[in-house]
Amino acid sequence: MNIKLNLEDILTNFINKDKQYTIPIFIPHKGCPNNCVFCNQKKISGQINDVSLKEVEDKIQQFLSYYTNDRKIEIAFFGGSFTGIDINSQIEYLKIANKYIKNGKVDSIRISTRPDYINDEILKMLKDYGVETIELGVQSMDDEVLRASKRGHTKQDVIDASKLITKYNFRLGHQIMVGLPLSTLDKEVYTIKECLKLNPKQLRIYPVYVIEDSELYDMYKDGRYTPLSIEETVKRCEKIIEQCQKSDVAIIRLGLQSTEDITVSNSNIFGPVSDNLAEYVLAGIVRNSIEEKIEKNLTGEELVIYVPKKYVSICVGPKKINKIYFESKYNLKYIVKGES
Ligand code: SF4
Repeated sequence: MNIKLNLEDILTNFINKDKQYTIPIFIPHKGCPNNCVFCNQKKISGQINDVSLKEVEDKIQQFLSYYTNDRKIEIAFFGGSFTGIDINSQIEYLKIANKYIKNGKVDSIRISTRPDYINDEILKMLKDYGVETIELGVQSMDDEVLRASKRGHTKQDVIDASKLITKYNFRLGHQIMVGLPLSTLDKEVYTIKECLKLNPKQLRIYPVYVIEDSELYDMYKDGRYTPLSIEETVKRCEKIIEQCQKSDVAIIRLGLQSTEDITVSNSNIFGPVSDNLAEYVLAGIVRNSIEEKIEKNLTGEELVIYVPKKYVSICVGPKKINKIYFESKYNLKYIVKGES
């Protein structure tokens, strides 16, 4: 049996339509009054130094010197809750970024923050300095999960903040987490459905990792929290993405970015730690799509999938999981052919 797959359709939420460069500026949130159970920023805050204005300026200059073509360039303030830090510090950071917007070297500014740190006054200030995108740490739309995670905000805060951000014509982004305490597959599907009603333009999906020096670590150690397996995480992400396929939201991250500290080789991080979660999830989405198209009694033949060359590895899957799946389930030869 031969199948020609139009993966652009299936993976539409992952296709980056406006490719851009990002200049990442990490702003540690030393004064964060919250106590999210999965966060270790508070306990390690003594080890994090404030980012000086000179460091911000140097970083922007450094990144600009790398870029040679004419892609869009965005300065992204991330790592905490930007609008929760002292207002004067926010303005100082934004003034620097805004200078590069004015001289035409940078196109946009993005910040990430909490839903309860958004109001008219803050949004007017962000507008004045040229911020284009605001990403909200939603994490869950289930109040019980938010409480168990000690997020300190409610579902209603997310709704109010998202509506206000859209009203002020910012580009809205949401971040959600998979595997929070008391969360379930159903609650995560509910979360994405509720998020999509607010029409975010971009989405990040993060699995919950248990990091030493966090409250979640204590909960894990005394059995009050069990992290998800990688398999369960992949399954939940697939279900979340199924919902996204009904919308135009761009999924700009799936899984945590590996850093020196957050990696499978760090034995002090527990849970569904994977350097290539997205590859497993994408392979699963493609597998489900192929399975929908094949005849139920297909067996003992060749299953040949034709896809554009760049998608061959997704169709085969990491560690050839899709090839192994189809060949063992249907007793056939699974062949993926890349077309130019
Ligand atoms: S994750 Fe929670 S506790 Fe950590 S910096 Fe963000 S809001 Fe504060």
